[in-house]
This record gives sequence, structure tokens and C-alpha cells, in this order.
Amino acid sequence: MTREITYSPSYTLVPTYECFNRCNYCNFRVDPGKGSLITTKQAQDQLNLLDRESVIEILILSGEVHPQSPARENWFTRIYELSKLSLQQGYLPHTNVGPLSKGEMSQLAKVNLSMGLMLEQVSQNLESTVHRYAPSKKVQLRLEQLELSGELRIPFTTGLLLGIGENQDSWWASLEAIASIWRKWGHIQEVILQPYSPQSSQDRAFDLNLLPDIVKNARQILPNQITIQIPPNLVTIPKILLACLEAGARDLGGIGPIDEVNPTYQHMPLQLLQETLQNAGWLLKPRLPIYPEYYHWLSADLQQAAFCRSAMVKTD
Ligand code: SF4
Repeated sequence: MTREITYSPSYTLVPTYECFNRCNYCNFRVDPGKGSLITTKQAQDQLNLLDRESVIEILILSGEVHPQSPARENWFTRIYELSKLSLQQGYLPHTNVGPLSKGEMSQLAKVNLSMGLMLEQVSQNLESTVHRYAPSKKVQLRLEQLELSGELRIPFTTGLLLGIGENQDSWWASLEAIASIWRKWGHIQEVILQPYSPQSSQDRAFDLNLLPDIVKNARQILPNQITIQIPPNLVTIPKILLACLEAGARDLGGIGPIDEVNPTYQHMPLQLLQETLQNAGWLLKPRLPIYPEYYHWLSADLQQAAFCRSAMVKTD
């Protein structure tokens, strides 16, 4: 019997690599003042190169500007414009740019099909280690963002970053926290289990052998309505990837030309991935960045955008 596993054909737009946080493990950021903000013309040029038939999601992923910085408004406006531009070009934007105020989040919800923010870990010990210089990684702030997105009825993606100095108790507590927020608002469509993957051999990678059991436990803790997502470029051993599917993972997340957060971990060619899965009895299917059960939360315009793409990719 063939079973189904989904992925989101995506392309990532990066408004800026500048970030006021300094997470110890980050391979993405540059110091404020050392980068630039993408122009809409540059974004348009990037979108023009895409194959409109095969790309569905535009992931807008950015370094963060401090909420009190004079640069915040400009940064936020550009993110809004990029979301709008993506929609105008027939793509479905999904924004993940760090914690937002209620006003910012509700503005972006008007031009995004879904949004996301990694919870990472609820262990507060990390606030004095890897997140010591990352004020926006405060656990309380992240939990508040999950609550806020629920209150605003935004279909949401969150997840755990595994192997940044937490202990196992933090894994289960993080999943419990997500489950409990979902029970209140019902808005979390998927949870990513992302193994920390160093870009140089000096740092210690998360032990991938642990992942299938974590997926299995996560499946017990999370409500069935939440899909568990595994990034296939980071789960580099096919046997482990397949074991994660057997344990309950059902989605492979966004697959595009480059993983901006883990640029040295390339996705294997889609056809090869499809064949690997097919040989183990899995059918890989494209999906939208919003799950059908949430369509009715969208404005009429966004619903229309989702229906259009849904018809094109025949995800059903
Ligand atoms: S918040 Fe994100 S981009 Fe900024 S330093 Fe941390 S991991 Fe890097």
C-alpha cells in the first residue's frame, strides 16, 4: 500500500541577513549595518526567474530588527511589500521573521497564507548560553507569539531546534507547550523537528539516530491534527529519514534551491528523493503552505489565491 508524504515546493526571499540577535549557532546573520535590505526590484528579479508552475510557496525569512530600532518600520514595510508582491505573482507567501507586535502580525496576516516562528526549546537555561545575546529567543516571548498567532487565527508553523544544549526533558516540555497552546486555539498546522546541523566540522551535530524515537514520542504528545515535519536535507541518512516517517512524520517542509539557514546542506534532487521514498512505499506529494482545513480562516482574496494554486497542483 502506498502512503502519502507531503512537501511544499518553495523559494526563499530574504529581506535582510542583518540581525540584532546573536545566537551562538547561527550561520545566517550579519551584524546590523553590515548588510542591506532587499529592494522590491531585486525581489521581483528573483521571482521572475522562478518556474511559476512548480514553485508554490514564497518563504519570507529574515534577520530581525530590534522592535525599538528606527529601522524597524522600513524593515516591516518591506516584508509586507514582498508578501504582496509574491501574491501578485501567483505565489503563496509564508512569513517567518521573528517575534512581531500584535499590529504587525495582523497586518502581515492580510497578505500571508500562513506564518511561522520556531519555539526552538522551552529550556530557560539556554537564555544564559546559546541565546545569551539573543533577546528575541526568550522562551516567554516565543510562547506569547504562539498564543498571539492563535488569537489572531493565523495558520501557524512552529518547531523544535534539537541539539543546541538542551536536555531531553526540554524536548517533551516544548512539545507539551505547543500541544497545550494548540488545544486553546487550534491554529498550529505543523511542528518541525529540526536537528541542529553545523556548517563546519568543529561543531557537534545532533545525533540523527535519536530522531525516529523523538518523532515517535512527539506523535504521542501532539494532537493528531498537527503534522510532524522533518527537513530531508538535514536528515542526511535515508534510513533515518524513512524511520522518521515510520514513526509518524508526514511532511518534509519547504524544498527549494537553497536552505538559507543551512546553506551547506543541499536538498537531494527531487526526483531522487521521490524514488527513495517510492521504493519504501511512500508517495511524495506537493502541498500549499496552508492546510485545507484552514482555508475558511482566510480573507476572500487569500482563499481565492489558495484555491487557484490548489487546483494547479492537484494536491487532493
Ligand atoms: S534570531 Fe535567527 S538570524 Fe538572528 S542570530 Fe538567531 S538564528 Fe540567527
